[in-house]
Amino acid sequence: MDWQGKTTIITGGASGIGAALARRLAGEGAHVVIGDLDDAAAEAVAREVGGLARRCDVSQEAEIRELVRSAEERFGPVDVFVSNAGLGRGQPGHAASASDADWAANWQVHVMAHVHAARAVLPGMIERGSGRLINVASAAGLLNQIGDAAYSATKHAAVSFAESLAITHRADGIAVHAVCPQYVATPLIGLQPKDADPDRALLSPDAVAEAIVQGVAEDRFLILPHPQVAQYFALRATDHARWLSGMERLRQKAKAELGGIRPEEIHKIV
Ligand code: NAD
Repeated sequence: MDWQGKTTIITGGASGIGAALARRLAGEGAHVVIGDLDDAAAEAVAREVGGLARRCDVSQEAEIRELVRSAEERFGPVDVFVSNAGLGRGQPGHAASASDADWAANWQVHVMAHVHAARAVLPGMIERGSGRLINVASAAGLLNQIGDAAYSATKHAAVSFAESLAITHRADGIAVHAVCPQYVATPLIGLQPKDADPDRALLSPDAVAEAIVQGVAEDRFLILPHPQVAQYFALRATDHARWLSGMERLRQKAKAELGGIRPEEIHKIV
């Protein structure tokens, strides 16, 4: 893939994986447009990479449409849309204890934002016979996030929607990727990039950006920055009961060793 001059929108590009990808793709010559709730941080990244920043709440379809309009006005038709914005709120107690508001926020940001992005850019991409949709889901979308049922369910839905996009639109010349990292040192799990510890499978956002660039170059649908996720996913498919028992044991270990179930701390015992 030649990124030179490609109009590339990245949601959630003000921080973490999105910011690292903005820097990496701008380095390859892409025209980067960042849409994020945090407009000051988005502006700072955009300035650094010579791109454009717009405040955008991806849970609102009209704001995604406006982001696309701004990108097209500045740089021309959108070549690549990276749906990356995400949130993690955990749950206060049992598996159904998150509020309806938290379930709705997860659904809007992790699923409907991907639908609305596709709805905004697909007609033009189909007409031009080219385009790329990079949807950042999570290993939780193939496996499960202990302590956050809403995150897990909506990331599964994100992977499923990416599959629908790939099945339907490869013939239109549109490439689709689902990015499914395990733990990454970002504010989403209360960390900063400097906290990365690849020996303990806690990747830096830069490493994930690199994996995305590689995955795109190799035209892989499923991009797994942590390669071991492929084995866990295979185990889940071939011996579901054993996989579930393993996850239960991991949860017990988290309770015992971390003194409670906080999704952002599970990486310490994986
Ligand atoms: P991050 O918190 O560093 O960045 C997320 C960005 O999304 C923030 O800048 C935030 O302002 C933005 N955002 C949140 N809600 C938004 C909304 N409604 N509209 C616009 N922007 C919004 O986190 P990150 O780890 O870089 O997360 C990026 C993606 O990677 C997310 O989809 C996340 O679920 C996924 N992911 C993260 C991890 C991890 O361990 N950090 C693991 C797997 C997947």
